[in-house]
Amino acid sequence: MSQYDVIIIGAGPGGYVSAIRCAQLGMKTALVDGRETLGGTCLNVGCIPSKALLHATHMLHEAEHNFAAMGLKGKSPSVDWKQMKSYKTDVVTQNTGGIEFLLKKNKIDWIKGYASKVAAGKVKVGDTEYDTKNVVIASGSVPSTLLGVKVDNDKGVVVDSTGALDLPKVPKKLTVIGAGVIGLELGSVYARLGAEVTVVEYMDAICSGMDADVQRSFKRILEKQGLKFVMGAAVSSVDTTKTKAKVNYTLKKSPDEEQTLDADVVLVATGRKPFHDGLGLEAAGVKLTKRGQIATDDRWQTNVSGIYAIGDVIEGPMLAHKAEDEGMAVAEVIAGKHGHVNYSLIPGVVYTTPEVATVGTTEAELKAEGKKPKIGKFMFMGNARAKAVHQGDGFVKLIVDKETDRVLGAAIIGPAAGDMIHEICVAMEFGASAQDIAMTCHAHPTYSEAVREAALACGDGAIHA
Ligand code: FAD
Repeated sequence: MSQYDVIIIGAGPGGYVSAIRCAQLGMKTALVDGRETLGGTCLNVGCIPSKALLHATHMLHEAEHNFAAMGLKGKSPSVDWKQMKSYKTDVVTQNTGGIEFLLKKNKIDWIKGYASKVAAGKVKVGDTEYDTKNVVIASGSVPSTLLGVKVDNDKGVVVDSTGALDLPKVPKKLTVIGAGVIGLELGSVYARLGAEVTVVEYMDAICSGMDADVQRSFKRILEKQGLKFVMGAAVSSVDTTKTKAKVNYTLKKSPDEEQTLDADVVLVATGRKPFHDGLGLEAAGVKLTKRGQIATDDRWQTNVSGIYAIGDVIEGPMLAHKAEDEGMAVAEVIAGKHGHVNYSLIPGVVYTTPEVATVGTTEAELKAEGKKPKIGKFMFMGNARAKAVHQGDGFVKLIVDKETDRVLGAAIIGPAAGDMIHEICVAMEFGASAQDIAMTCHAHPTYSEAVREAALACGDGAIHA
């Protein structure tokens, strides 16, 4: 039997990052996960495989739509779906293998199996009980289910995100239930591959909670790319045959009239729920929130001393970088340091083309508080670099305090938005004003100049508007 300082349950971005930081801080650390490969949802069936497919299909889109205009002529590439999936698997394998290397480098034990019992000072995996001073639960999340809809990834007709990443063939007609990040990213992938994609969403706007300007503009751009939307629609059931599905729904505006949509594949993308089955939390006395997350204090400790929890299994946005930040912070807390996560500055990104990225407060939230923010907006049509790569759609929008000029939030829809947002995150961490960004020299020609222009728009005006 080994005595550990920390045992971490779950090797996703929360768990493995925490394990590395614990080891760096001198703690004897073990990481438990029963998957064949490390990296959790994110590396195996989430962020990484979806980005590989988004990249490959974006290349296809460029070849089909923009190459000829740039003088690149010839037959556009045909799709070898099997090969595209094998490229995706290669990307995943390289990344999961990289985590295994990092565990070895940091002398972290990988206990391969599922933890079946957790208690203060003890973790059971298989028949072995391990002693440990601290336990960190990072068991993540799984796709949410929808009443009346049965997901069967093996059959491949009604699938969740895991099934959608590995469909046997590209469907002719795909219906996506849910216009959130995962539904739109995977919907984009299949639309670019030639599927007729219809997104059915209960709310009246896509990407719930996002800046309203971005929601409108994003939907319009996706429609131009061929995605169809049925908004304000409540799905009641999905009927299936061996190879086809029928999605039954009613519109909020006509609830008595049942409507149907035929599809070859239905992707249920209605969100994710925390996962902690089989850990024996009830017996251990670990409390949950009303929404089934593990309840923690501001040091990520549960109500049981020595048992901590991080990532998708606790409150907050279900994002890999939020889990990673908590992973590092909890390690620091356990080591007696001051772990910290700034929850008001966690960016959210959608990796479609164009990308969408947001951080901080929205204009609507400030208005609801009775505040009148200053808005600096700059369209990518005025950005030379964006135009050069056929990506003039979209804008940068800065939300700024009217009195102090302090940057309170941002929303970007445009090329490389997911990378550009970090300039604003750093500015906000340092309490910067829009003028601080406006006075910072930005290299030309870059997409980032659009951020500066939006900052200039908060003062005497943008130059290229
Ligand atoms: P997870 O990554 O879910 O890992 C939990 C691990 O715990 C799993 O490996 C599981 O096997 C293990 N586990 C569970 N129970 C036990 C047990 N009893 N014993 C041992 N191990 C156990 N987020 C982003 O930030 N950016 C993106 O682009 C993005 N894209 C996504 C795309 C898709 C299709 C999906 C599904 C998700 C995406 N996400 C993205 C979300 C992201 O994957 C999660 O927020 C992130 O993985 C959460 O990390 P985690 O460490 O909390 O848990």
